[in-house]
Amino acid sequence: MSKPSDFLLQPARQLYRWVFPAQIERDEKTMDVLQHIYPTINWHNVRFYHALPWFITGSFVNAIVLPATWGRRGVHVYFRDYRPNNFYNLMTAVHEGFHVLQYRDLGSGIGFFRRFMIYYLSEYLQLFFKNIKNNNRQNASQMAYEKHPMEIPAYAYEAAFRQYALDQKGIIYPSDIPAELMCQTCGYTPQVALPFLLIGALTTFVFMLLKPLIELFFLLIATPIWLMGKILSFIGL
Ligand SMILES: [Zn+2]
Repeated sequence: MSKPSDFLLQPARQLYRWVFPAQIERDEKTMDVLQHIYPTINWHNVRFYHALPWFITGSFVNAIVLPATWGRRGVHVYFRDYRPNNFYNLMTAVHEGFHVLQYRDLGSGIGFFRRFMIYYLSEYLQLFFKNIKNNNRQNASQMAYEKHPMEIPAYAYEAAFRQYALDQKGIIYPSDIPAELMCQTCGYTPQVALPFLLIGALTTFVFMLLKPLIELFFLLIATPIWLMGKILSFIGL
């Protein structure tokens, strides 16, 4: 039977983990491949996490790369369901790795305020409103994602790597990966109209300021509940 302390400790821990997903112990195989195909990335600045961040839990994506909330260079990769030593998981990691390369090429920033975030959002908004203008209201969001100039090369590279992996029957030796499958730079040149760039920059800036405050608010809710649970558990309840 659950103890009274569990009724407090469990939701407090769940709330904490919802706001701050747990870090993943990265498997060697995935890292060997990523280090080999993206040799210019400093993987010490990249962390992997279980579950998506709180503000996109309901979205359709399986993984996402976001800046570290604190810091100038750190990049976090969130996986809805990370499965070590799994073929499809590796393909997701390869795709997300391409976005990490885009972060690297576009440079550092402050917390969420990075050029990657600004351009990704601006390009998305530009495509979204173009679709609306062309009467594609229903699929405007999906099309903006599929035709996004930062997604097209990531999907193309993922497809090329998947073909190579399938040709190797899924057995990949990083040192045997051909040089033409290695990515030194992402090759992205922004082509965003100024109004969209300004909206993207402003939204990213506001979110950079708000995100730590929202997370602190959740932490202030979770901490007293957890403390009360700990006190109950200490006195044997
Ligand atoms: Zn992507």
